[in-house]
Amino acid sequence: MRSAENSPPAFNWDDWYHSVGGRSIHIREVDDILTQIREFQYPRFTGEVHPRQTHFQNPVQAAQTVKEMAFKMGADEVGIAEIEPSDIYQGREVKEKYAIVVGQRMLWRMFQEVPSHDSAVECLRVYFSLGEVVIRLADFIRSLGHPCTVEHPIGDSDVLHVPLALKAGFGELGRHGSIIHPKMGPLFRLGSVITDLPLQPDQPIDAGIAAFCDKCRACRIYCPANAIPDERSPEAGKDHLGNDRYMVDTGKCFPYFARHNYCSICLPVCVYQHKEWARDFEGFQTQLFPEIDLQAPPPPTDPETPKHWYPLIKRG
Ligand code: SF4
Ligand code: SF4
Repeated sequence: MRSAENSPPAFNWDDWYHSVGGRSIHIREVDDILTQIREFQYPRFTGEVHPRQTHFQNPVQAAQTVKEMAFKMGADEVGIAEIEPSDIYQGREVKEKYAIVVGQRMLWRMFQEVPSHDSAVECLRVYFSLGEVVIRLADFIRSLGHPCTVEHPIGDSDVLHVPLALKAGFGELGRHGSIIHPKMGPLFRLGSVITDLPLQPDQPIDAGIAAFCDKCRACRIYCPANAIPDERSPEAGKDHLGNDRYMVDTGKCFPYFARHNYCSICLPVCVYQHKEWARDFEGFQTQLFPEIDLQAPPPPTDPETPKHWYPLIKRG
């Protein structure tokens, strides 16, 4: 299956960093985790497929087995979506039919202050631990005699995790461009395993979150780069509920993100993070609202090519 004509290009991190004058955040723990991902996880993306195939009674039973295993391995949420051409990055090809989308929660206590060293390290910690879940889940599926491919939460993925997660019932798209899960809020990361093992897909949900976003503007108000929009944009296409999408101006967000500990202010200030369930019940002293260090935004920057098509729309 090829990508659709209007699929976005993969986000080219190197070009983006080049456009803002190179990588300027140097956090030893972040660099260590990136090295571990490259050296310890990348070589484990592939493996032997067991020659004898396990057959399930039906796709429902197969989906249940795979999900139970993912939860045992440390997933906080798992859902299944059928892959469509629009879920594949521009110019890429994917032969598998199903995505098993896996989510893992980031700890609220690490986002008590943003942007910060702690929040940056927490993002990377979860990229690594979620990477372990998808790698081990792929090993499990191969042990059942079914080929599959790891789509790691960080790096050069062929598929777009966000639209797949929306189809898999993870939640709804927030004004800040991230998915809001009805129980986890927006503070989680996504990875996938893609396979042809027949699996029963999940359904998208309508929990009233997108409708709430139309009234709430907390992330819009606190975004230091003024990158989060006031209005939905018909140019951005529809979300799974048929709403026009909100378009975050990546040309404004990224220069701030790249210089200020990967920013993330829009996630902990999100009102869906401030529910009773979002608090830290593991004995850590936490507050309900983060401390925010707002630094002046650098000017907008867009790399020459390749470019997402949306950064310049409605830039004021
Ligand atoms: S990461 Fe920071 S700059 Fe980017 S949209 Fe969120 S709040 Fe704005
Ligand atoms: S802060 Fe409010 S407007 Fe922004 S994503 Fe969260 S709920 Fe939606």
